Amino acid sequence: MARTDGDSWGITESVGATALGVAWSRALEQNTECPLFTDPYAQMFVDAAVEQGWQPPPAQMAERIRSIGGYAASRTKWFDEFFIAAGANGIDQVVILAAGLDARAWRLPWIGGTVVYEIDQPRVLAFKVDTMRRHEVQPTARYIPVPIDLREDWPRALRDAGFDASEPTAWAAEGLLPYLPASGQDLLFERIHRLSARGSRVGVESFDAGFFEPGYLESRRQRLAEYRRQAGEEDPNGAGGDAFDVQDLWYTEERTEVTAWLTDHGWDVTSIGAADLMDRYGRCAAGEPDDTTPRTAFVEGQRAC
Ligand code: SAM
Repeated sequence: MARTDGDSWGITESVGATALGVAWSRALEQNTECPLFTDPYAQMFVDAAVEQGWQPPPAQMAERIRSIGGYAASRTKWFDEFFIAAGANGIDQVVILAAGLDARAWRLPWIGGTVVYEIDQPRVLAFKVDTMRRHEVQPTARYIPVPIDLREDWPRALRDAGFDASEPTAWAAEGLLPYLPASGQDLLFERIHRLSARGSRVGVESFDAGFFEPGYLESRRQRLAEYRRQAGEEDPNGAGGDAFDVQDLWYTEERTEVTAWLTDHGWDVTSIGAADLMDRYGRCAAGEPDDTTPRTAFVEGQRAC
């Protein structure tokens, strides 16, 4: 499971499977009584992956860790609002980094003329595009997949695909940064900055402020393993008990603080911590131990100069 330079994956393998995990949690949210967002495509992706032999986590797992379901739903909602606000301010060029099975290009009410570029590994985007095509689903914006690894020269691939760096862009990095080494994260932001015209916006799920502190990660690992074990015991199929821990796919290194970096580079920045965001959406992790609520923040930057 260890990561290597230049590793690659399909949708049911390694880091690719984390995109399925997110789709699975969005499908669960979609089926709640009062969902924070509408994503009819998440279940479609899960079903297509199950056809390929992927085994979703047992539903009992989400029941048990309410904070995980609440976190994933709040994160999706925050990025939905980020893009809608960018559109309301006239930004019609969007780049979703590590898009995975994000279905925003098919489900958000984009302003007329919006182009959505999605970057992810080739086999991940191929699975997604193929699933949408098989279900004859049409995007709500002009959709341009850019299949390339983010450790490669993606700015060139983006430009070749039609991206215009002289126009303001709305960028998103959701569920991405731990899968890049700290140096790769620095390079990512340098590139975003270079490609951002004045007025551009960036939405980031940031993992600084102690997220990679070993004691925190270890207690999180142990608690999640225990939840998985209990969920596996309750599941009639016995699934879940031996699932891998996503931490094994992360580069657990302290990183440049995103808010400080953006501020230093002339972006106006606002930020909200995960617990406050979940509270805002009525998804607070009441009764759950702190170490299941990720120590993340949701950072929005606007390029002022
Ligand atoms: N942003 C999506 C969402 O929230 O639904 C997907 C999040 S998923 C946890 C992580 C995604 O990052 C996967 O789709 C994976 O393929 C992508 N990813 C991670 N490292 C990458 C890299 N070096 N190049 C391209 N994609 C990468």
